[in-house]
Amino acid sequence: MPADSQSRETILILGGTAEAAKLASQLVAAKPGARIITSLAGRTREPAPLEGEVRSGGFGGVEGLASYLQENCVTRLIDATHPFARQISANAIDACKLAGVPLEIRTRTPWVRQQGDNWIEVETLEQARDAIPPRARVLLALGSQHIGLFASRDDVHFVVRMIDLPETPLELPDHALVLGRPGDSAAVETLLLIAHSISHIVCRNSGGKASYAKIEAARQLGLPVIMVGREV
Ligand code: NAP
Repeated sequence: MPADSQSRETILILGGTAEAAKLASQLVAAKPGARIITSLAGRTREPAPLEGEVRSGGFGGVEGLASYLQENCVTRLIDATHPFARQISANAIDACKLAGVPLEIRTRTPWVRQQGDNWIEVETLEQARDAIPPRARVLLALGSQHIGLFASRDDVHFVVRMIDLPETPLELPDHALVLGRPGDSAAVETLLLIAHSISHIVCRNSGGKASYAKIEAARQLGLPVIMVGREV
C-alpha cells in the first residue's frame, strides 16, 4: 500500500468501456491530489492508453474485490463497466457492502428505437440466432464468447469484427473476420455494411455512444437490426 494511501482520496473505476476511459481522464484532471485507478478485466491484449493508474485482471470474486478495496484504502468505487458485464457489477455491490466503501453506478442506459429504425427485438442470443432469415449476410456485433452459438447457421454468411485476432479460428462455417474497433461515425459503418453486402445486424442493446454508429448506419440504409434486449 502506498504510504500516503490512508489520507488520500482513492477512486477505483471498474472500466473496460469508452465511458470509463473518459471518466478516468476527467477525474485525473479534476483531482490532482487523488489516486485514480482504472481496473480492466485484462481480456484485450492492447487496451487503449488510460489516464491515471491501471490494474488488470480479475480480483477473485467478491472477497477479492473487497480485499483490494481495503488494502488500497479505496474511498469510492465507480462501476463504469459495460452493461452486459453483469458479474463484476453484482460483485461490486456486495464487495462495497463488505468493505464499507460507497459505490457509484455509472453504467449506460439502453438505446431507444428512433423513427426509421427497423429493429427485430428479441430477449436472448438464441432467439437472435433463430430470427436470422435463411441466406442472410449478417454483421455479428457480439463479443467473441458469443460467436459459437451461431455456428449452427451454416446457411448464413457472418461478418465478425474483433479488436484482437482470435486465438483459435472462429467456429462459424461461413464468415469474414474484420479486425478493428467499431467505426466512430455512421459514414464509416455504412461503408463496412455496403462493402460486405450486409442484410442484417445482430447486436445487443448496449447503450452508449461508442458502438451506436452501426445503428445509425443501419437506419440510413434501412437494414433490419436483430436487437437483443438487456433482460437476458
Ligand atoms: P463479467 O462477466 O461481469 O465478469 C466476469 C469476471 O471478470 C468478473 O467476475 C471479474 O473476475 C472479471 N472482471 C470483469 N470486469 C472486470 C474489471 N473491469 N476489472 C477486473 N476484473 C473484471 O464481465 P465481462 O462481460 O466478461 O466483461 C469484462 C470486461 O470487459 C468489463 O470490464 C467490461 O466493462 C468490458 N466489456 C464487456 C463487454 C460485454 O459485452 N460484456 C463489452 C465491452 C467491454 P473476478 O471475479 O475474478 O474479480
